[in-house]
Amino acid sequence: MILFDRAASAPGFAFQLLLDASGTIVSGSSPSVPKGLDRSDTEYFHHFTAHPDDDDLHISPPAVSRVSGQQMIMLSRRLSNSDGSFAGVVVGGIKIDYLRSLFASVGAEHAGTVTLFGPQGVVLMREPFEQSVIGASVADATSYRRMIAMREGSFVGPAMLGEDERRFTFARLGLEPLTLSIAVSPSAVYAEWQRQALSLGLVLLSLCGVTAGLTWLLRRELCHREQTEAKLVAANASLAAQATTDALTGLGNRRRFDEALAQEWDRAVRGQRPVALILIDADCFKGFNDTYGHQRGDEALRLIAGSIRAAANRASDTACRIGGEEFAVVLPEVDTAGAIVVAERIRAAVMGWGMPHASGPHTVLTVSCGVASVPEVLAPNAAALVAEADGALYVGKGAGRNQVRAAEPNETDLRLVI
Ligand code: GH3
Ligand code: MG
Ligand code: MG
Repeated sequence: MILFDRAASAPGFAFQLLLDASGTIVSGSSPSVPKGLDRSDTEYFHHFTAHPDDDDLHISPPAVSRVSGQQMIMLSRRLSNSDGSFAGVVVGGIKIDYLRSLFASVGAEHAGTVTLFGPQGVVLMREPFEQSVIGASVADATSYRRMIAMREGSFVGPAMLGEDERRFTFARLGLEPLTLSIAVSPSAVYAEWQRQALSLGLVLLSLCGVTAGLTWLLRRELCHREQTEAKLVAANASLAAQATTDALTGLGNRRRFDEALAQEWDRAVRGQRPVALILIDADCFKGFNDTYGHQRGDEALRLIAGSIRAAANRASDTACRIGGEEFAVVLPEVDTAGAIVVAERIRAAVMGWGMPHASGPHTVLTVSCGVASVPEVLAPNAAALVAEADGALYVGKGAGRNQVRAAEPNETDLRLVI
C-alpha cells in the first residue's frame, strides 16, 4: 500500500515493481505486470547487486520497457531486511513522453536548449526534443565536466552536443544526481543586441555626418561673411581716405585739415603743449597759370605738395591742400622756431626745383609761408591761430614773397586761453 498507493497514480508514472533478492517480480502497481518474471538481468538490479551498500536513489538510462513497450527512465532503490541484508529492489518507471510534455510546456524555443542530465552525463530529456540524443552520454565533454564540478552557475564553453560555443546556465536538482542546463548560443543572445547596436550606430553615424555637413556649411558661411566684412572694412577705409584726400596732390584736403587742426588744438589745450601751423601760398600763381597753362599749373602744385611732404615728415605732422594754391601743415609739439625751420625747408625746396616762372618776382616758382604757434601767440581758438598764420603770410607777400614770416609772439608771458 505504501509503495503503490499515491505515488503510483502520479501523472507520468508508468508503473512500479517490487523485485525480491533474486530479481523476480513479487508485486506490481498494474495488473498487467506479470508476477514471477525474472528481472535479474536489468541494469538497475545489476547495479544493486554490484553496489550492495548503495542506499540512494538510482536513475537508469532511458530504455524501452519490456512491460509497457514505452521508453522509460527507471528510478530504483534497494530494499533491506530487518537484519540489513539485501531484500530486493523497488522500481518505478517514468515515461519519457511525460518528461517531454513537461519540457515542451516550458516554452523554451527562444532559450536555445534545455537539457536534463542523469548520472554519468546521460541525457534524460532535451527540449527541443531529439530522439537520437536521449540516452546518449556527454560525460567526456569538457563543458559537462566543468558543469559537474561547479554544481551550479554559468559559463561559456564548447557545446556538449553540436558545435560552436554555448552559454550554459545550470543547477543540480536537490540532492539527486540530476542536472538541468540551459544552453544558449552567444550569437543568438547578441543577435538582437547587435541589430540594435547596428541601427543605433547607423543613426549616430548619420547624425555625425549631418553635424559635420552643417559645421562645414557654417564654416563656409562664416568665411564668406568674414571675407565680405574685410572687404567692407577695406572699402570703408578707402572711402574715408578718399573723403579726406586731395585728388590732385594726395595730401589731406580741407576737411582733413579742419579735423586735424581741431583735434591737435584740443590736445594742446588739454596737455598745455605747443602746436604750430604753417600756411603756404604759391607766389603769383595766377600769372603762372596764365603763362604756362592750367596743366603746368597742376604740375607745379604737385611739386609744391611733394616738397611739403618731404619737409614735414613726422608721423604726427598733417599736410593738406586747403585751397587752390594754398597749403597748410599742422605740427603738434612744435614751437615757432621749429615751425620756421620746417617752413624754410619747404620754401627752399620749391625754389630749388628752379621751375621757370616768368611772371613771378624771382623768375622761378616760389612760395611764401606764414607761421604761428601757441602758446607763443595769443589765440583763443583754432580759427584765431589760422588768422595769425594768415596775417604773417600776408606780411611775407607784402615784403616781396618767397619768404617765411612768423606771427609776432606776444610780449608778456602768455598761457593758453580756453
Ligand atoms: P599771390 O602771390 O598774391 O598769392 O598771387 P596769386 O596769383 O598766387 O594769388 P591769387 O589768389 O590771385 O591767384 C590764385 C591762382 O591760383 C588763381 C588760379 O589761377 C590758381 N589756381 C587755383 N587753384 C588752381 C588749381 O587747382 N590748378 C591750377 N593750375 N591753378 C589753380
Ligand atoms: Mg592764394
Ligand atoms: Mg598765391
